[in-house]
Amino acid sequence: MIVDCAILGGGPAGLNAALVLGRAKRSVMVFDDNRPRNAVTQETHGFLTRDGIKPHEFRALAHQEISRYPSVNMQPVRVIGLRRADNAFEITTEKGDRFFAQTVLLATGLKEILPTIAGLPDYYGKSLFSCPYCDGWELRDQPLVIISERPQTFHLVKAVWNWSHDLLVCTNGHQVLTKEQHDLLRQKGIEVVEDRITALLGKQGQLERVVFATQGERERRGGFVASQLLQASPFTEELGCQLNAMGGIITDPLGRTNIPGVYAAGDTLLAVPHQLIIAAAGGSSAAAGVNADLTEREFL
Ligand SMILES: Cc1cc2nc3c(=O)[nH]c(=O)nc-3n(C[C@H](O)[C@H](O)[C@H](O)COP(=O)(O)OP(=O)(O)OC[C@H]3O[C@@H](n4cnc5c(N)ncnc54)[C@H](O)[C@@H]3O)c2cc1C
Repeated sequence: MIVDCAILGGGPAGLNAALVLGRAKRSVMVFDDNRPRNAVTQETHGFLTRDGIKPHEFRALAHQEISRYPSVNMQPVRVIGLRRADNAFEITTEKGDRFFAQTVLLATGLKEILPTIAGLPDYYGKSLFSCPYCDGWELRDQPLVIISERPQTFHLVKAVWNWSHDLLVCTNGHQVLTKEQHDLLRQKGIEVVEDRITALLGKQGQLERVVFATQGERERRGGFVASQLLQASPFTEELGCQLNAMGGIITDPLGRTNIPGVYAAGDTLLAVPHQLIIAAAGGSSAAAGVNADLTEREFL
């Protein structure tokens, strides 16, 4: 059997696409190994009607709603292979099962590489976060740290400054700020420490202190971390999808990539800000793209 669409990834992008395609009477398989990027967080913010919901509750509600549409089939398994085979795409799972689909929607999200700092994972998602639009409100007006070894450090500082002016910028031994940026930060009263961080200290995920190799320690109540973002799965390369300078998949407004029959949505596009509601909206648009293209073929 060849389904109309195989959706790889069951986060908000993939699940919203499944909902729209199910409602369009399309046969769909959603493959998901349930390792979303936001699994470390306690609450999800900024999704109208769901502000503050736990990530796993959001998914459970989505599955409940999608279960009303019988043509959508959930496959809780990791996909390890994806290739074009004649007029269809062949999907191979880690269990060794093979499935075929007319179209494929890549909604596999991103993986992030955090700076290598002792203790950081204990605080990430609890008092250290990645995006001020997601978690800035909870940290507003607190003494915050920004940990970034990356070229976008200055941009992140400016973004976070909206939520708190009491900022400490830590580059963990890296030099990622220009002299002009240093001067501007000094004028704003923002301290920059370029020394290596040797420890993050606190209790139960609540950051309290940042300890440096040679420059003592500072008290902080949370903050933001810039991580390296990579595609969570390698299919973009395998299929030959065109990528932007950040490594995000390039699509048209209906999620079409440069490869006919291959669509993409959500964080895989690496468009900012990365948010559930934006990923879900992208999934919805891409589903319309898939359905429109299939209808076009069938109508002829
Ligand atoms: C710490 C943190 C806090 C955040 N807080 C918020 C917030 O408060 N509000 C907000 O709007 N956004 C928040 N985000 C961002 C949000 O999580 C993402 O923007 C959103 O999850 C992207 O949705 P997606 O569907 O594109 O990808 P994801 O939600 O990451 O889903 C992708 C899915 O694909 C699966 N997958 C990947 N590869 C395969 C494969 N080969 N086979 C099968 N399955 C696969 C993964 O397991 C995962 O389940 C936060 C992110 C982080 C890291």
